Amino acid sequence: MKSQQTQGWQAKDHAHHLHPFTDPKALKQAGGRVITRADGVYIWDSQGNQILDGMAGLWCVNMGYGLRSIADVAAHQLLELPYYNSFFQCSHPPAIELAAEIAALAPPHMNKVFFTGSGSEANDTNLRLVRHYWDIQGKPEKKTIISRHNAYHGSTVAGASLGGMSGMHAQGDLPIPGIVHIAQPYWYGEGQGLSAEEFGIRCARELESKILELGEDKVAAFIAEPIQGAGGVIVPPDSYWPEIKKILAKYDILFILDEVITGFGRTGCYFAAEYYDLEPDLITIAKGMTSGYAPMGGVIVSDKVADALDKGGEFAHGYTYSGHPLSAAVALENLRLMKQQNIVAKVAEETAPYLQQRLRQVLAQHPLVGEVRGVGMVAALELVADKASHQRFAAELGVGTQCREHSIASGLVMRAVGDTMIIAPPLVITQDQIDELVTKAKQALDMTY
Ligand code: PLP
Repeated sequence: MKSQQTQGWQAKDHAHHLHPFTDPKALKQAGGRVITRADGVYIWDSQGNQILDGMAGLWCVNMGYGLRSIADVAAHQLLELPYYNSFFQCSHPPAIELAAEIAALAPPHMNKVFFTGSGSEANDTNLRLVRHYWDIQGKPEKKTIISRHNAYHGSTVAGASLGGMSGMHAQGDLPIPGIVHIAQPYWYGEGQGLSAEEFGIRCARELESKILELGEDKVAAFIAEPIQGAGGVIVPPDSYWPEIKKILAKYDILFILDEVITGFGRTGCYFAAEYYDLEPDLITIAKGMTSGYAPMGGVIVSDKVADALDKGGEFAHGYTYSGHPLSAAVALENLRLMKQQNIVAKVAEETAPYLQQRLRQVLAQHPLVGEVRGVGMVAALELVADKASHQRFAAELGVGTQCREHSIASGLVMRAVGDTMIIAPPLVITQDQIDELVTKAKQALDMTY
C-alpha cells in the first residue's frame, strides 16, 4: 500500500515534472519511485524501503552518500563566496586549487583544466576546443570529429551528435554536420566468427579507414569512452586500444578520451588513460569529480593543446557556472577524502577484483546470462534468449525492464540498457555489501527467468 504522501508526490510529479530519458505515459502507469534519503551505499524510497544503490546514482556517487565533511565544506563555501565567475581576468581559490589538484592526478602531460557544469557541456567544449586548436595551427579545414556507434557523450546538441545513440539522433535530426561514427568494439554482440582479439583489431582499423576516406587534412579528432558506459558497458577486447594508439600516432589528429564515467577511480586508476596506457590530448570529466554532491564537469587539457591556445587569443567559450565555487569546493573535499581513504588503491587491489570475481562465479552460469563483463567497479550482465548463439530476446518482451523491477523489489538498483543489466556501485562498497549486491542480483535474475 502506498502512503498518502507518496501518492501525493506521484500525482504532483506527473502533473508538473518532465523527466529526462523517460516515457511520460509509462511513468504515469508505473507510478514512479520517490527517493527521499541516502546514506553510504544505500538509498531509501518514500515507502521506507532500503535499496542498495548498485549504480552510484548515475555512475557518480563514488564516495557514497551522507558525507558530513562535504556538507560542511559546502556550507562554509556558500557563506564565504557562493558565486563568482572565472571570466574577464578573475579567478577564485576553489577553482584555482581544484585545477591544480586535478592536474596533479592527471597524466603528466596534462596540466590545465577548463571547467563546465556537466559532462555534456564538457564535450561541447571539446568540439569547440579542437576546432579552435586547428584554426590556430592554420588548418581550419580540419573540422570533422570521428566517434563511434552507441557511444554516449551527453545530451546537448553537440554531445548527442558526438554520441552514437540512434534513438537520440532520430529525435533531433542529429548528428550535426562534421561528426561521423565508426564501429564500437562490442565483441559479444557483433563479433561472431572472430576471436575477441581479431574483432578488436578490425574495429580499431575502422578508425584508420575513416581517416583515409575523409582525408587526414579534414579530420580534427577522435572521441571515445575508454569503456562505453551507457551503451551497455562495452569493454573493448585487449587488442583494441593498442591498435587505436598505433593509428593515432600515425596521423595528426587529436584524441579526446571521455572519462565522465571512468574518471576518478572507477577502473582502479584515477583515470582509465592510465589503465589502458593511453595519451589523450583532452580528457572529459564530470560525475566522480564531485561524487555527485554538486554538478560539475570539465576538460583536462594537454600541454600540446594548452600551448597552442596560448597563441590563439580569446577562446570565445564558457559557462556562467564554469568552476562554480560551491562545486569546486565540494570536488576538492571529495578528492581529499579519496586520498585519505586510499580508495583508488583499495578498488584496484581489493574490492573491484572481488566484485568481478563474484559476479562471474555466481551469475555467469545463470540461464539468462550470456556474458558477464566489466573492469574495476563497472560491470554488465547481458541477458540473452540463447547462450550458445548469443541470440537476444525480442525487444517488446522487455526482459531487461522486468529484471530491473525485480531487482528493485529485491532491494538493489541495477540499470537496464535494453537487456543488459548494469552495475556500477559506489567505490566505497565493502566486500560484505558486494556479497549482498550479488545475492540480490541473482534473486532478480531468478524472478525474471
Ligand atoms: N560522457 C559520458 C561518457 C557519460 O556517461 C555522460 C553521462 O552519463 C556524459 C558524457 C554526459 O554527462 P552529463 O550527464 O553530466 O551531461
